[in-house]
This record gives sequence, structure tokens and C-alpha cells, in this order.
Amino acid sequence: MDFSIPAEFQATLDTIRRFMEDEVIPIEKDFLLGGMAPVQARVDALRQKVKAMGLWLPQIAKEHGGMGLSLMEFGMVGAELGRCPLGHYVFNCQAPDAGNMEILIQYANPAQQERFMKPLLAGEIRSCFGMTEPEFPGSNPSWMGTTAVRDGDDYVINGHKWFASGADGATFCVVMAVTDPNGPPHKRASMFLVPMDTPGIVVEANTPVMGHTGSGWASHGELRITDCRVPAENMLGPMGDGFLLAQERLGPGRIHHCMRWIGVSERSFEILRDHLLRRQVAPGEPLAMRQFAQGWIAESRAEIDAARLMVLHAAWAIEKHGLKAAREEVSLIKFHTANMMMHVVDRAIQAHGGLGVTDYTPLSFFFRFERAGRIYDGPDEVHKLVVAKRILKRRAAELMQRGEL
Ligand SMILES: Cc1cc2nc3c(=O)[nH]c(=O)nc-3n(C[C@H](O)[C@H](O)[C@H](O)COP(=O)(O)OP(=O)(O)OC[C@H]3O[C@@H](n4cnc5c(N)ncnc54)[C@H](O)[C@@H]3O)c2cc1C
Repeated sequence: MDFSIPAEFQATLDTIRRFMEDEVIPIEKDFLLGGMAPVQARVDALRQKVKAMGLWLPQIAKEHGGMGLSLMEFGMVGAELGRCPLGHYVFNCQAPDAGNMEILIQYANPAQQERFMKPLLAGEIRSCFGMTEPEFPGSNPSWMGTTAVRDGDDYVINGHKWFASGADGATFCVVMAVTDPNGPPHKRASMFLVPMDTPGIVVEANTPVMGHTGSGWASHGELRITDCRVPAENMLGPMGDGFLLAQERLGPGRIHHCMRWIGVSERSFEILRDHLLRRQVAPGEPLAMRQFAQGWIAESRAEIDAARLMVLHAAWAIEKHGLKAAREEVSLIKFHTANMMMHVVDRAIQAHGGLGVTDYTPLSFFFRFERAGRIYDGPDEVHKLVVAKRILKRRAAELMQRGEL
């Protein structure tokens, strides 16, 4: 087994690290204090620079204008970008657009590619994803209230969505709606490309999350969809395959999130480490001299390294054996990495004292914003159930075969 990173790819990672340090992190402070609005113009200029450097769309194949990286390689890039809340957006690999790009590449027909996919890949527009509903459990997306009823050449959509991240200012929404209420649970819903200027779909509010309503890409929209009429050709993928598309969207997406969380953890670790060296708790005695603080460093380092290896292994398993075969690995990293990140961020906040809960470092943003990682793309409990059930089922089958159960 060889853990080394090829020199050429390491050079790409180094270039990205330098760009993040020199160009992206310097504007982070204004984002932390004021959200997207004060930094939007500077972020847009940085996006053009990234394009010119050939680093645009690191997660997308070359034929669609991306860097053509493997999932493992993109994972490593994602860890660099995740060190700053704006990193993924600057490189056009941010959620929810990245997931939407993936299903558009796979399922969009030529007209949908022209109208929705190409401008999204070019970074000219943003999108959102409308699956979760306030009245139904998002953890069981085979059960939802939004319906799409065929009427002539159109579908008429009615429903209520929330947590559509980035809906504020998005050009279209990928809406999941029930098209066959009497079908098998996993074949009931389909996906639709709904332009946000279609009469009947409105962003009712940006949902306040941990004290912040956010704006633009950094927000979570509540959508009211009332008699919203879209042409039948706006269905994305086959009828009844909404659930399947949602699963396909989430598979590599979980690697993307987990490696971003490794980046969040690494940055928090760096901030923790430097603060321990600089902050004196008595004249000439930096916090780093205290054994409690040394424990924070050692524990955080071990936890981040372990999680990084697990996530890269899961990415490797997906590449080698496919998403279905790697289901267990993906569930393991989803809940493990999200929790690991919260431990590391929490320690870094603790070490900073009062400063840790201010918005003068990214730590409090990470703590507020990334807590949701234990909920979206499958809550912790659902992933733990997936893993535990499989392990127990395998062992039970073995024991039964041997006549021991
Ligand atoms: C910041 C953020 C961004 C999001 N972005 C989007 C987006 O862009 N588009 C979108 O459609 N959705 C988005 N979501 C929604 C997200 O996918 C859902 O919140 C998630 O699927 C959980 O659904 P729910 O909130 O309805 O919770 P519920 O399904 O009501 O679950 C509540 C809790 O019950 C527990 N639970 C659930 N099922 C089980 C079980 N089987 N066994 C044991 N315990 C269980 C878990 O602890 C879970 O947290 C986002 C959410 C957040 C917080």
C-alpha cells in the first residue's frame, strides 16, 4: 500500500493551498461579519482567477469543463478548500450546486443541458435542491407531500419545501415531487427542473439558522409551491426515479462533505495550535505549556488523521467497487467525520476563551454552520443503523450457516 501523493498532483494541491492563503482567506473576515453581500463582487473576481488558473470545477470531468480529478483526488482538494467557508464556492464545487451538476450531467436531456447544466457549470447561475419538507420527515424521503400532476403537456406542482440551501437568488430548483402516489414507496416521486421565476414558486423566507438568516448562496430557503406549472419536458430523468436520483446525488456528495469537514477540522487545528503558542496565561507562560492544552493538540491530530484516512478509503472503495458496494464505508464516514469535526472545533473554541465565541475567528461560524452536518444527507442515527444492521446481518448469516444460531 502506497500512501504517497504523486508529485504533479501535490503541486496542484500546493497551488490551491497558496491561492486559498493569499486570496480567499483574506476576504473571509468580511464574510463572517456580514455574509455573502459584502464579499460577492470579490468572490466573483476570484472565480474568474480560478478559471484562468485551470482549477475550475475540480470535481467535474474535463469534457464538461472541469479538472477531471478522481473522487480521491477531489477529496484532497476539498480538504484544502474546506479550510475557509468560501473555498468551495470560489472553485464552483459548492453544495447544493455540485450535487445538481452531477445529476444534470448524468440525466439531463440535450435541451436541459443547454438551459440549466451549461450555465451552472460555467458559474453564471446558481441552483437549489428542494426535497425536504417541514411537514414530513426528511430522513425518509420516500414519504413526502409535494405532488406533480400531469395536465396536458405540463405538470402542475403543489407543495411546501424548506432548507433549500441557496434558494435566495438561485435561477432554478430541482424539485422532488410525488408523481405516482400509489406506486411502490421508492418509485413514487420524480424530479423536476423548476425555474425560480415560474409563477407559483416563491422563496417565502430564508430560514433563520443558529441566529443567522443568511442571504444568497449562504442561506436556506423555505419554498411555497402553488399550482406551479412546468412543461413535462422539465422532468429530470425517468418518471418515478426521483428517489434513485436523490441517492445518486448524495453518494459522492458525502465524500465531498466529509473532506470539506476534514478541511474545517484542519483549519480549526491550525488556529488552535497557533493560539496555544501565542496566548500567555501568565507572564512568559503560553497556554501550550499546560498539559490540558497539549492533550487538545494530540487528540485533535489523531482524530483528524484517522478520519482523513477513513474518508479517502471510502472514496477509493467507491472508485474501485461502486457506490452500492461502498454503502457501509460511506455511512461510517458520514457520522464519524461530522462528529470528529465538532469535537475539534469545540476544543479550539474552548482554548480561545471568550474570543472563541466571537466572529473574529472562523471557529464560531464552523460551530454554528457545520453542526448541521450531523443532520443533512442522512442524520447520524440513520447512518449508524445502516452500518449496524449490515454488520449484524452478516454475522447472523455466518452463525446460522454453522448451526450456532
Ligand atoms: C443546514 C441544512 C441544509 C440543508 N440543505 C438542504 C437542501 O439543500 N435541500 C433539501 O432538500 N434539504 C436540505 N436539508 C434538509 C436535510 O436533508 C434534512 O434536515 C434531513 O434529511 C433530516 O430531515 P428532517 O429535518 O425532516 O428531520 P427528521 O426526518 O424529522 O428527523 C429528525 C431526527 O430524528 C432522528 N431520526 C430520523 N430517522 C431516524 C431513524 N430511522 N432512527 C433513529 N432516529 C431517527 C434523527 O436524529 C433526526 O435528526 C438541509 C438541512 C440543513 C440542516
